[in-house]
This record gives sequence, structure tokens and C-alpha cells, in this order.
Amino acid sequence: MSISAERYDLAICGGGLVGASLALAVGQLGLSVVLIEALPFGAVSQPSFDDRTTALSNGSRRIFEALGVWPLLERDATPIKRIHVSDQGRFGFTRINADEQHLNALGYVITNRVMGAALWQRLTREPIRLIAPARVVAMALQEEVRSIRYTSEDGSEQSVNARLVVAADGAQSSVRESAGVRAESWDYEQVALVTNVFTQRFHEHVAYERFTESGPLALLPMSDGRMGVIWTFKPELASSMRECSDLEFLASLQSAFGFRLGRFTRVGARQLYPLRLTRSDEHIAERLAIVGNAAQALHPIAGQGFNLGLRDAASLAEVLADAQQEGMDAFDSGDGLWLQRYSQWRASDRSNIVRFTDGLVRLFTQPFGPAKILRDVGMLAFDLMPTAKDALSRLSLGAAGRVPRLARGAPLKHAP
Ligand SMILES: Cc1cc2nc3c(=O)[nH]c(=O)nc-3n(C[C@H](O)[C@H](O)[C@H](O)COP(=O)(O)OP(=O)(O)OC[C@H]3O[C@@H](n4cnc5c(N)ncnc54)[C@H](O)[C@@H]3O)c2cc1C
Repeated sequence: MSISAERYDLAICGGGLVGASLALAVGQLGLSVVLIEALPFGAVSQPSFDDRTTALSNGSRRIFEALGVWPLLERDATPIKRIHVSDQGRFGFTRINADEQHLNALGYVITNRVMGAALWQRLTREPIRLIAPARVVAMALQEEVRSIRYTSEDGSEQSVNARLVVAADGAQSSVRESAGVRAESWDYEQVALVTNVFTQRFHEHVAYERFTESGPLALLPMSDGRMGVIWTFKPELASSMRECSDLEFLASLQSAFGFRLGRFTRVGARQLYPLRLTRSDEHIAERLAIVGNAAQALHPIAGQGFNLGLRDAASLAEVLADAQQEGMDAFDSGDGLWLQRYSQWRASDRSNIVRFTDGLVRLFTQPFGPAKILRDVGMLAFDLMPTAKDALSRLSLGAAGRVPRLARGAPLKHAP
């Protein structure tokens, strides 16, 4: 590797939703930052910035406000006023209301493409070095830095050095792997079908989560009156649901969801996402921090993956802000002490969310036996138990456990 490589405080590998957000957050600290992303800006193939809809928690909204991204999103973000949870063919259902929680909205629905465009627009205005398209191909630990080698579009190889490298390169993270951090992965043997539909009746800002015979179905209200659909199937059924005619698909959806929104009138392009739970053994290694899907990729049943990844980014930025203030001139962004703090913080948030998400998947994909009874009783009892409901809505709001300052609307740096 080149010995004359440029040296940075931070090198972020992967400019998806989480890596791009982290770059904006640490940009506020005056650190020298380089972001390396494999795909060109605005590429259709960019996995983070596709046509999926994401349910953003209020905590995530506040983080985006602090990063100056929210004003670019607000027009396209649909507030969720109510969440309606039901089980096909059963009488139990539950509702969570924004009013009951004394909130304007329980969260906001936004397409990933709009979020991606807003993040990149903000990034290009920051003194952050953006290298894209370029793929990180190797990493080595040297004295006081990690050295990263990347290949550009023309095939040329170059390198940069950083005191701290951040793996933000998604669930199959090669950066995590080359640092020797293992990840366990569990195949749910389920595939999410993602699309959007037009409905006869306006959604009134209600998000629906329905447990159908084929698997969980989420309908999220969108800004132009459409509903974003995320419907989980066994792999063999998922392909036929993507390939069938629009009319057949709409009829199946109608029969699984019912007529709360009147008739489903039109459906957009359908895409499939195989679902796995991937979890890295650690959040850190020497001079390395792991964030977003590179640390954990979740089932989308509870809409927690990006919200959790964004808290990774906000927490890492906060730990670095505090370390910078404590360390003064001797500050080293890759110091093991700061990384330990980041790791401890993230371990508890992640284990809460993984347990919650994974528990929901198991509870709602077991067709028979005690799980079914628990589900029916649970949904009825749940509606009558404000504490359990509050706990769920706190998780949905991204407000459980220690909350990063940015997610509380506080500045990243303490006043000196
Ligand atoms: C169907 C579905 C619905 C979802 N709905 C929600 C929801 O409602 N709410 C929610 O919070 N979450 C949701 N999620 C989860 C959310 O989409 C992810 O958590 C989020 O996209 C992860 O972002 P990321 O930046 O960590 O990873 P990624 O999106 O995987 O981005 C990784 C980036 O790294 C780049 N990269 C990879 N390798 C390299 C390399 N070697 N060199 C340089 N760059 C590299 C890639 O090009 C990519 O841009 C959903 C997920 C699915 C599948």
C-alpha cells in the first residue's frame, strides 16, 4: 500500500443511508472525513436508495433535523397518526394513537430514494471528501492508522489512511470481515415483497400491520395517497406473487387485508427482498467501528432496521464529540477507550430491538399452538394494557434505553 496515502480522522466505507448520515453527523465535529461508496450518486441500483418506504421514528426525524436533512424531506414525509395491528381471521386488534402519546405523529413514512437524494445533496455541501464510485477492496492495520485500498471505476487502485475506519457497507460487510469480526446469520426463509398500491379511500394517516396466513403484511401511508406495501411470504410463494398479473395480486391483497380502505385499484412494480437476521459478534475492533446493517440487519416486521442504524451513527458521533472535548489536543478518533464506550452503548440498544423484532417474527409466523393463543389473547389484552402499549410505542419511537443527544433534539457537542 502507498506510504504517501492521505490521512483522515475517519474513513467511512459505504455511503448508504447510515454511512451518509454518519458522515453528516461527524462533519459537525470539524474532523477530517472521507466517505467511500461503491455506487455512483443517485444510481438506480443503490440498495439503500431504492423504492422501498421506510417508517422513520420521531427520534430519527430529530436526528435528520440536526443534520439539516429534514427540511429536504418534510414535504414528502407522511405523518403516521395511528397504527392499527390485526390478525387475519381473528377478532383481536390493537391501535396506537399519536394523540394518546401526546405526539403530532408516531413516525413518518418516506421513500428511501427521497432520503438518499436528500442525504447526498447535504453531503456535497460539506467539507467531506466523497469518493464514488469506488469499492474498498482491502484493509490493513498499521501503526496508529488503518490503511484502506479501493478501486475506482477506471480500475485504478488507490489508498487512504484513517485513525478510525467505519464499516457502513451493509449486511455482507467485507470491511467487517477483513477486520476479523465475525457475524452470525439466521435465514428466516421468508421473502419481503415490496410495492405500493392505490386505494379507493384515503388512508387518513393510518399505518396497518396485519398478520395474514402467508405472513406479516404492512401498509404504510404515503404522501400522494398511495400505501406502501411490505408483505412477507415463504420463498416459493413470493416469486409467484411477484410474477402474477396485477389483477391477481390486487385480489390476493384484498382478501388478506379486507376493505378498511375500500378497493385496491392499482399496484406498482413489485420487488423481492430475502430476509435474514445478521448480527456481528462485536461493534468494534482495533481502530474500527461497525454501524447500520453491517452491525445488524433485521426483519422489517417492526420497521426498526434503519432507525437502529441511525442511532448507531448518532451514538458514534456523540462518543467522538465527548472524546474530542475530553482529549483536547491529544484526541485520537480511533482510541480504544472511545470505541469501548460506543460498543457498550450499542450492545444494549441492539439486543432490545433484536429481541423485540425477532420475537414478533416468531410469534406471528407460527400458525398453530400456544403462539396462536398467545397472539389472540395478547392482542386483546394488549389493547387494554396501556403499559405494554406504551412500551411498544416507545420502541417504535426509538425512545427506549439511552437515547443519543441528536435524537432528543440536543446539540451534538456540550457547551464548553
Ligand atoms: C423490505 C424492507 C423494508 C424495510 N423497512 C424499514 C422501515 O420501515 N424502517 C426502518 O427503520 N428500516 C427498514 N428497513 C431496513 C433498512 O432498509 C436498512 O436497515 C438500511 O437500509 C440499512 O442501511 P445501511 O446504510 O446500513 O446499509 P445498506 O443500505 O446496505 O448500504 C450499504 C452501502 O455500502 C456500499 N458498499 C457495499 N460494499 C462496499 C465496498 N466494498 N466499498 C464501498 N462501498 C460499499 C453499498 O453500495 C451501499 O450503498 C427495511 C428493510 C427491508 C429489506
